[in-house]
Order: sequence, then structure tokens, then C-alpha cells
Amino acid sequence: MKSRVRLHITRLPLLTWLGLPLLVLYLSVNYFLGESRNPDWVRADLPGNGTLPAEAAIPTPPPLQTTPVPWDRRGIVTIWFDDAWQTQYTISLPIMESFGFRGALAVPTLAINNENYMSWAQVRRMQFKGWEIASHTRNHICESAKFDEKTVDYELNGSYEDLRRQGIRADFFVSPCGIELPGIREIAKQHYLGLRTVEPGFTDLPPKDVYFINGFTLTNESTVGDIRTLLSETKASLKWLNIIFHSIDESGSKYSVTPDTFSAMLEEVRNSGLPVLVPSEVLSRIFK
Ligand SMILES: [Zn+2]
Repeated sequence: MKSRVRLHITRLPLLTWLGLPLLVLYLSVNYFLGESRNPDWVRADLPGNGTLPAEAAIPTPPPLQTTPVPWDRRGIVTIWFDDAWQTQYTISLPIMESFGFRGALAVPTLAINNENYMSWAQVRRMQFKGWEIASHTRNHICESAKFDEKTVDYELNGSYEDLRRQGIRADFFVSPCGIELPGIREIAKQHYLGLRTVEPGFTDLPPKDVYFINGFTLTNESTVGDIRTLLSETKASLKWLNIIFHSIDESGSKYSVTPDTFSAMLEEVRNSGLPVLVPSEVLSRIFK
């Protein structure tokens, strides 16, 4: 008995030493075979054997489908969500849907996929649901001193291109922090149908300048009563009310609104009976 046990003890390490080189050999052969073969998911019938099309070949997504309804000469409300916060997808979107509202989302393209911000899939999903996706530059720079001619091009044209490559059509531009730059409107006109600022005020219908759309930014101090006042002024003046939300959460930070207040504000919007439209719909109704 003693000798058999010893035999097992001495043979086991030998087998282990043989097994390791065999495993390495097996993996190497598989690796090189794999390298020389197309992976299964590459479709041979695609041009370029499944490689992505050249950048220039990426088609520009079609404009938002809007129902051409004539403007009945009433005031109009547009609900904006700036900066693509994650809570705008997880909290605002379902609440907006419960009221049957669609909104406009202003996306700083380099924020996407970062912590607390939406993913590209979420932005595309909102577009699919009929939301208007607007460009909000790439880096959301708020200091005009940081913009030279090259930066303006990088931020405005670049963000349009980033969105386009993600299959997202951006017909509106939203300036970060409402920043005013020389030539910003001329560049915006190359790609966008309109530009929204954060300059408080109502916008005429039809707008005097579609590259200067006003908007009221809501903060943690905004009340349901403030919204009620804005809505009754919209009704009386027959103008366009753009209201701007940022994150919808309980953080209490300056530009946040709690989910309860947000719901109560939307309740006021619904009770006003005013049409809630996205910007492309507004322009298509006014100018058609
Ligand atoms: Zn912003």
C-alpha cells in the first residue's frame, strides 16, 4: 500500500508538466487558425467584406417626421432637456410619456457615455420615440474667450457630424450657457434650421429670427406657480414658450428639479390646453 501511494505522488507532477505545454500548443494553433479566418459575424456579401462604410458614405438621417397641422394661431409650448443627463432618460422620459408629451433634447456629444449622462443608444431611442435631438456642441464650453474660429468650427460642425454618425438628425443648435460668439449664427445656418438660447423671454410666432429662440431655464427655485404664470402669458400673448429643464432628481443642485415638481409642472402644461410640440413641428406649422 505504501509503495502505490508513493507512485501516485511522483506521477502527478509529471502529468502536470506535460499538460501545460500541450495546452499552450493547442491554444497557439487555435489562435493562428483564427487569425487567418474571417470571424463568423462578418458577412461576405457586404461591400468591403463587412467593413464599415467610409465616413463620407454614412447617410444623413432623414428629418423628424412631423404631422403638417396648420397653426391655429394659439400659443405653443416646447419642453427642452439640456445636456443629456441620465435622469432625463430614466425619470423625465417616462413622466413625459405618461402625459403624452414629446420634448427636445440638447446633446453635448462628448458627454455621452460618461457617468451620469445618457448613452448613444438612449439618445437614439428618444429620437425613435419622436423627440427632437438638438446639437449642444461637443464640449459644452461656456467661456467665449476659449473660442477661436477653429474651435467654433470644431464645436458646431463637429457636434453635427458626431450626431449624424450616430444616426441622429440634429436640425437645431443650442448654444452652451447661451454663449454669444461672433459668427456663431452664420456657422449655425450651415447645418441647423434654428438656434435656441437661454435668454429668458417668449418667442414671437412666427419667430422674428429662428436663430434667436428664447427660453426660460428652470432651477431648484422654480415653482409650479411660475409655470402657471408663464403658461397664462403664453395664452394671452399667442407666443412660443420654451421651457428648459436640466437634471430631474432629488439632488437639490441649482439646475435640478425634483420628479414631483416636474410632474406637477407638466400637469399645469396639460391643464393649459396649449399644444406641446418639438421645435421642428413648430417651424413646420408656422411656415407651411
Ligand atoms: Zn447646457
